[in-house]
Formats: sequence, structure tokens, C-alpha cells
Amino acid sequence: MIADRGRRGGREYGGVLLRAGLIYFLFGALFVLLIALGCSQSPEPRRNLIVISMDTLRADRLGSYGYARSTSPTIDALGARGARFARAHSPAPWTLPSHASIFTGLTPQVHATHGWGDKIPSSVPTLAELLRNAGWRTFGHTTGGFVSGRYGFSRGFEEYVDKLSGFKMTLNAARRKIESLPADEPYFLFLQTFTVHCPYPASPAHRASFRSQPESVVIEMASPCTVRPLEINFSEAQKRLFSDRYDAAIRSADEQLAGFIEFLDQRGELEDTYLVLLSDHGDEFGEHDGIFHGHTLYEELLHVPLIVVGPGIEPSVIEEPVGLVDFMQTALDLLQVNIQAGEGRSLTRYLEGELPWRAPAQEPVAYFASTEEGTKLRSVSLGNDKLILDLETGQVQLFDLGKDPGERLDVAAERPFTRDRLLLVLNRHLERTSLGEKGGRALSPEQIEELEALGYAR
Ligand SMILES: [Zn+2]
Repeated sequence: MIADRGRRGGREYGGVLLRAGLIYFLFGALFVLLIALGCSQSPEPRRNLIVISMDTLRADRLGSYGYARSTSPTIDALGARGARFARAHSPAPWTLPSHASIFTGLTPQVHATHGWGDKIPSSVPTLAELLRNAGWRTFGHTTGGFVSGRYGFSRGFEEYVDKLSGFKMTLNAARRKIESLPADEPYFLFLQTFTVHCPYPASPAHRASFRSQPESVVIEMASPCTVRPLEINFSEAQKRLFSDRYDAAIRSADEQLAGFIEFLDQRGELEDTYLVLLSDHGDEFGEHDGIFHGHTLYEELLHVPLIVVGPGIEPSVIEEPVGLVDFMQTALDLLQVNIQAGEGRSLTRYLEGELPWRAPAQEPVAYFASTEEGTKLRSVSLGNDKLILDLETGQVQLFDLGKDPGERLDVAAERPFTRDRLLLVLNRHLERTSLGEKGGRALSPEQIEELEALGYAR
């Protein structure tokens, strides 16, 4: 019995060994296979990023954002291919501070680049710097002015063009750059244009088709953009003329953009490239008595388009308020660069279709904006509530953007609780976030005086 048991035990022992050997063999083979697979699989391809900043383009003048006139078939079609943020918020109503926020993910209160001569502090990393350090090729093609290299925008770019040029030239330069780059080198291409900025260049046909006043309305003004708008009382006819010309300029720019999108599609470029179309601020045409931009914080200046198209981004419209200040972290996350930068939040969860992100009971995210030259205004938006504070006069205005998107009715007196709550949120922001120091001067006081004398358009 014992012997039998021993023999049986021996056979069992041998069987166990055999099974163990087989298992080890299978595990070994699987391990080798996984290693082999791991070696043969190329790492996740690094995506490209193209950002087109259409300076001065207010959202509500685009068809997809509700405009009745046909200004933007190309931009609308582009938005329908990807994620269109219906309520994107600019942190400033003019070029320098807003682009500084796009490049740093910081509010103007923090990057302190919101005066005419200010420069982005060298201690603050820019998107181009971070991407270049992470291995991206980096190119900027801008129209200069307040996005010139001397304000700190060229930091991190291998090449940064900042000369006045038409949108078509900018897009052609972009094409040549894309064609010249090796396919295995990811790139970040930043394009900026003043093509819808005053004086609103447009083809004669578009000027004619968007004219809403009779030909007999002749407006005597040699160069309307080179005056200080706060010092001029523009007539209603003049404001309407600017507004019509603005629409015509958008339509002309939209047509030029069509050729560039077609070029990208022919190359299949958007299969591994994120294309972002945004603007730094809008323009006003007398909605609140102002003209052009820079001096107020109403929605005609702060509500901007934000469209993201690219691999894995399903068509969607995101109604949740977001900010340009969120762009930097979103771009880093999209490109899988593992860096936390700036104050903004990543919007990639929206792009991946995780809606709604914010639970209904949660606080909405607060977005801030400011002016610093000419007027000293600060605003905070929290959901549909928006408060504007004049630091010099102490005047407070409160608007319910849900019921009153045109900000016609100040409800500060009727809703004191909301007013005080938003004031508290704003004051916390103002106290908490100031860097305290400016990043240096891009312009000497004499140069600023020169620009002011020229009425330099912002
Ligand atoms: Zn601008």
C-alpha cells in the first residue's frame, strides 16, 4: 500500500512537476511574447497642435453661435467636426493680456501683463517653452502688435514671425512650414491674425453684401482705428458702418480659412493634429456705448469662440462656461505632456465626451476678467451670474446672463445676496493671486507715449 502509494505519489509528484513545468513554460512564453509585442509596438504617437487665434472675433457674430447673417460657413463647419465651446470666456478685452493668459494659463491678475508696456514675467513658463522642452518643434506666425516677441510671446519658439501681414500670407506661411517638417517630428504651430480687427479688411463684394445702410451714408473718417475711441462720440451710422464692415471682414477671413482647412484635410493632417480656433476678445459697436475694445467687460468683448478638432474628438457642443485660461492645461493634456501649469483646468474630459462634468449641486467655476488701461474694471462670472466692479468709482453691476445675455438690466440692487457673494469671490481672487511684480517693461515710457499719440490700435 505504502509502495503503491509511493509509486502513485511518485507519479503524482512527477505529474505535478510536469504541470508546473508546463505552466512555467507557458508563463515564460507569454512573458517573451509580451516583451516582443512591447518592443514591436511603437510608443503612442505624439500629436501636433495648430492654434489659430483670430484676434477680435466675438462669438455671437458667427452662425454656429447664433448669428443670423452668413459670416462664417467655414468656421461653423469646422466647429461641427469637433468640440465647440458655446460659452468660452476671455480674461481681458484686448490683445496683450488675453494672449498672455492663453500662453501661460494665468489670469491677468497673476501674470500682470495687462499694461501697454508690460512683458510676460520670465519666471512664468509659456506653452511654447514647455512643448519645446518636451520635444515639440515650435513655430509662431503672428501679425505683431501686442503679440510681438518683445512682450515675451516668442519665448520657446524656434521661429517667431511678428510682422504685419494679411491672413492669407499667414496661412500660406503655415502651409509651407507644415510641408517642410519631417512627419516624425511633432509640432506646435501658433497662428495669429488681426484680419477681423479694425479697419476690417474685406473684399469689395463682401463689403457690399453686408452693407445695411444706403450708399448715400458717407462717413468722413480718414482712419477710424487710429483714434482714441473713448474720446470720440461716434454717430449711430458710424457704429453701424463699423459693424457691417466687421461682418464683411469675418466673411472674408472665413473664406481664406477654407483653403487652409482643405489643405489640412488633403494631407490627412487632422488625423494626428489638434486644431484649435479661438479668439482673444471681441469688439463692441455701441451695445454699451463703447466702440472697438479694451475698455469694458461686457460679453461682446469677453464671449469668444473656442473650437477644438482632432483625433478622438467627437462632435459636441459644450454649454458649460469655460475660459481661455483653461486652454494651456487642456493643450498640455491633449498632447500628453505630463505637466501642471497655470491656474486653469483641463477641458479634455469635455473633449472625451464626459458630459456633464460638473454635478448639478457643485459650484460653477468662477472666471475673472480685467481692464487696466483707461478703465480699471474687474469682473467675475459664476454660472449665469456676472458682476462687474469699477475699482475707481466702486460701482457694481450685476447681470443674469441666462435671462439677459445682452446685459441690459443691472440687477445688483434686486439681488444683494448674489451681488455680495460674487464680490466676495472677486475680492478673494484679487487678494490671493497677484504676483506683485511685473515681468519687466517691453516698451520705454517714451515708446508708450509715441504709440498713444498714434492712437495705436490694441
Ligand atoms: Zn486682440
